[in-house]
Amino acid sequence: MQKIFSSILALESFEASDLKVLLNSEGEQKKALFEKANEIKQSIIGNKVFFRGIIEYSNVCQKDCFYCGIRKSNKKIKRYTVSDPEVIDAALFAFKNRYGSIVLQSGEMTSPAFVERIENLLRQIRLLTNGQLGVTLSMGEQSEETYQRWKNAGAHRYLLRIESSNRQLYAQMHPNDAMHNFDRRLDCLKLLKKLGYQVGTGVMIGLPGQTIDNLVEDLLFMKELDIDMCGMGPYLEHEDTPMYEKREMLDSQKQRFDLALKMVATLRLLMKDINIAATTALQAIDPLGREKALKCGANIIMPNITPAKYRTDYKLYENKPCTDEAADDCLSCLDVRISLTGNKVGYGQWGDSQHFKNKKHL
Ligand code: SAH
Repeated sequence: MQKIFSSILALESFEASDLKVLLNSEGEQKKALFEKANEIKQSIIGNKVFFRGIIEYSNVCQKDCFYCGIRKSNKKIKRYTVSDPEVIDAALFAFKNRYGSIVLQSGEMTSPAFVERIENLLRQIRLLTNGQLGVTLSMGEQSEETYQRWKNAGAHRYLLRIESSNRQLYAQMHPNDAMHNFDRRLDCLKLLKKLGYQVGTGVMIGLPGQTIDNLVEDLLFMKELDIDMCGMGPYLEHEDTPMYEKREMLDSQKQRFDLALKMVATLRLLMKDINIAATTALQAIDPLGREKALKCGANIIMPNITPAKYRTDYKLYENKPCTDEAADDCLSCLDVRISLTGNKVGYGQWGDSQHFKNKKHL
């Protein structure tokens, strides 16, 4: 058994059945998977971990996803949008502290006023940092024109999680209407690629009704789409969402956490040169969750630089960490924490996806 497993770890290309064995690994095998993923990361990408300071721009959302705490129908939360000067301050904080890149993430809005505000912010950020701060957007599904305008204004990476690549599961997690359409989301990912963005996607792990086979499909989906970046993490229940009703169906949070780490490690074996984020949802279950992901294949971390007064209102799920810390506090401990994982922070560098660069040379 051990022998078969070690031969899978050494494969150059993987079948669905191989990926399933990796995702089912436990004990010594799981440990060997994590070590192999770390070895690949260190040899292909190196020991640098890159920062993406995340600004949670707004929790106003026109969508109604059944799992998400900031869904439109949740009347219990206070809606906010960070003001322009506050966004600029946060971006300059990231720039001065040599974070290299920021992510602007938001609930989904498509109004002309919203599109224009983001465009103006992107232009200001580019001007104030001499184009030296990398900018990723995570603002959901938009028109081609919008994606193009934002690209022209200075965004160069885009994160849009498919959430689940299985249509049936996707349908179970979203209202059945034009605004929550699987094909539309997929088309957006293809548009982003066409426009020249570095494209990231990802899924939630441990969803009610989700099987290991579904997760294998997710990994193959990412490979097939030839993504440059991935952000994925455990599904975490939120009391004020419809999916909370299905909580009896869930594995324990610890099991979802373990499975998420195995997804990170397996993806690193499957796509050796992409950027993989150690996501905040991991940290919500285990205070050292992100560090653990950095030890088994992840190479990106997203420190929260949202102005403190808004933090508690961007509650996608329960137990979201870091909601009461100011950005500086997070930074001082992060550097030490990352060193302890055997990695170094790539200060002041964009840390673009190696995969994207390799593709461009073809
Ligand atoms: N509106 C943007 C950003 C969404 S929030 C978009 O559509 O892309 C960022 C991510 O948080 C989502 O893509 C989703 O995967 C994750 N998320 C939302 N609710 C969650 C939950 N309950 N548990 C874990 N992750 C969740």
